[in-house]
Amino acid sequence: MERTVQIQAPLPHIGSVNIWLLRGDPLTLIDTGPRSDAALAALEAGLRREGLRVEDIELVIPTHHHLDHTGLIATIAARSGARVAALDRAAEYGAHYVERSAADRSFSRELMLHHGVPEPVIESSQGFWDYIRDTSEAYRTDRVLSDGDVITAGGRELRILARPGHSTTDALLVDEPSATAFVGDHLLAGISSNAEIVPVAEPTGSRPQARTQYLDSLKRTASMPLGLLLTGHGDAVADHRGLVRRRFAEHRRRCQRILTVLEEGPAHAYGIARHLWSARTVAEQPVLVVWEVLGHLDLLLDEAKVTEQILDDGSRYGKAWFWLREQAASDSEASNGAAPRTSILYPGGQRPAELE
Ligand SMILES: [Zn+2]
Repeated sequence: MERTVQIQAPLPHIGSVNIWLLRGDPLTLIDTGPRSDAALAALEAGLRREGLRVEDIELVIPTHHHLDHTGLIATIAARSGARVAALDRAAEYGAHYVERSAADRSFSRELMLHHGVPEPVIESSQGFWDYIRDTSEAYRTDRVLSDGDVITAGGRELRILARPGHSTTDALLVDEPSATAFVGDHLLAGISSNAEIVPVAEPTGSRPQARTQYLDSLKRTASMPLGLLLTGHGDAVADHRGLVRRRFAEHRRRCQRILTVLEEGPAHAYGIARHLWSARTVAEQPVLVVWEVLGHLDLLLDEAKVTEQILDDGSRYGKAWFWLREQAASDSEASNGAAPRTSILYPGGQRPAELE
């Protein structure tokens, strides 16, 4: 097999994103970095070290749709004529990037309101979404791959496997003979992956269970005989089963901390987040902490340790409150205004964004 070369592009907050160059036929990039001058310069420098130029790239495959993995696809394809191959979900997102990310943004605003984030905090955190808009670009996919398909890239055969959870479009690209997988942000060595809660193609009428889905995807990956995972950020992972075990233990600890917070009384997700992170973190990253807390609350709801009730506070969707199950049963006030876990924020049959 020909060599695999790691090129790191700068990225605010997290430091860098990995672009993987697969030497061999066709000359391939897995992920691209964000659409920024600094990332493009880093890519060009990395290719130059290999005696290559952007114009030489023949194939680009993103691991998922996030801007730091796809932002330069359109630029690279325009300069090189490279073909783009992507999992069907990532292809669909790329074709409608502006509309889809705008829908994610407006959904997140409703989600934050519904889960107790004050409006001024929502307003002051809009830079998160401005950054996504400014460093992403729609991309066209020439070869749309289905879960399980095999594609020739960089002199090897890669099998694409859907692993939704971190995003709805996550995929692994697996080189089975060498037991090596390109995993994007599905499993990272240094940090736990987030699981974004965004509109889904076919709403079920309940909140998208991104965290639950993520853990299911992690279990599937842990069952695979892999020797090396090349990640989207930071170091490679050699012992993926050990790391998955550690990530599961972290989930159990966080669930336990949420139960401890709820022992003091019912709370909404943002109120719980205030107990788990610094004032600065919850003020600057409200959508991330709401995704994190809600994902863990979904695990606790599935275990019947927690109950969720939507209380009408005069706002459009009301506010979602969470009780310890035993407290909800003994507290008669809790049943006043109780509603099922399903709220009108997650209607069946239409995208929440289309309610706007
Ligand atoms: Zn990502």
